Amino acid sequence: MKALTLTEYMNLVYGDAPDPQIAGDEVLVRVRACGICGSDVHGMDGSTGRRVPPVIMGHEAAGVIAEVGGQVRDWKRGDRVTFDSTISCGVCWYCQRGLPNLCDRRRVLGVSCEDYRQNGAFAELVALPARILYGVPDSVSFEQAAMVEPASVAVHAVRRAAVSLGDVAVVMGTGMIGLFVVQALCASGCAKIIAVDIEPQKLALARKLGADVALNANECDVAKEVRGHTEGRGADVALEVIGLGPTINTAIACLRKGGTLALVGNFRPTVEIPLQAVVTRQLTLAGCCANCDDYPTTLELLGRKAINTASLVSATPPLAEGTAWFKRLYDREPGLLKVILQC
Ligand SMILES: [Zn+2]
Ligand SMILES: [Zn+2]
Repeated sequence: MKALTLTEYMNLVYGDAPDPQIAGDEVLVRVRACGICGSDVHGMDGSTGRRVPPVIMGHEAAGVIAEVGGQVRDWKRGDRVTFDSTISCGVCWYCQRGLPNLCDRRRVLGVSCEDYRQNGAFAELVALPARILYGVPDSVSFEQAAMVEPASVAVHAVRRAAVSLGDVAVVMGTGMIGLFVVQALCASGCAKIIAVDIEPQKLALARKLGADVALNANECDVAKEVRGHTEGRGADVALEVIGLGPTINTAIACLRKGGTLALVGNFRPTVEIPLQAVVTRQLTLAGCCANCDDYPTTLELLGRKAINTASLVSATPPLAEGTAWFKRLYDREPGLLKVILQC
């Protein structure tokens, strides 16, 4: 098969790779679309330690089943599918309790680290356990389905934030996941969504996708503005999608007493937080890891365009051009959002 292989750091090569072999409980998927994630772009230079070469990256994908293993009952050749980026074991304590994102033997597709190497979907074919598959309805294109994975992270975060009808929500960071968070908040019935970023272009997009207020953190006192929109109380929920100390602290400062902060971003491994404010204002901090059976809801929202992907996709070039597109993303070409490679 053809694949895009990271042969050494900063060296992505399009060429022949061995066809993956499937086990009895696996299927072989002919990949049709696979999105380039920020974690792939950052991982390419070795800085994260999560893409140790050689590895085929890619965990945001969709395609058609080409072959099914002997023990697979629910799927057949020709089925349109997408799949979780987490390969859970299906048998550990967490998996048995419906928490596959917390699986003890969790592997992430397209990741290669100290503990494992799991080739991903920047390839014509990928082998996957049947238990992580989800059927893609006809109303959802392969390109849209390739966005289910990042969109499901937002859906999961909104669920973890326990948003209620009529809430005021703050979204710190309007990159790809933040823009999905804005849309998932719209779908969950927030009364007011306040998007915060420092890039005017991203804030404009957040407004277009449903944010009621856009605040440029370089130009105003964000917490003060949020209080101005909430009769002085502060927001009911905040979702932080960056993972830096200053933005997490701003998110905490935006909350009303008893409010909830959903933490999605984790750029820094540790940050300082105002402990006494969290305790005395009785805030809830909710960590959000990947997704937990949020695919069906996300596919539903994509199918009826409650989550819009069209304005987030910058290009859909063929897999053979992947190297050049990775470089453009790595070089932070302005205005470039999601790039989805077609296989
Ligand atoms: Zn990703
Ligand atoms: Zn498990």
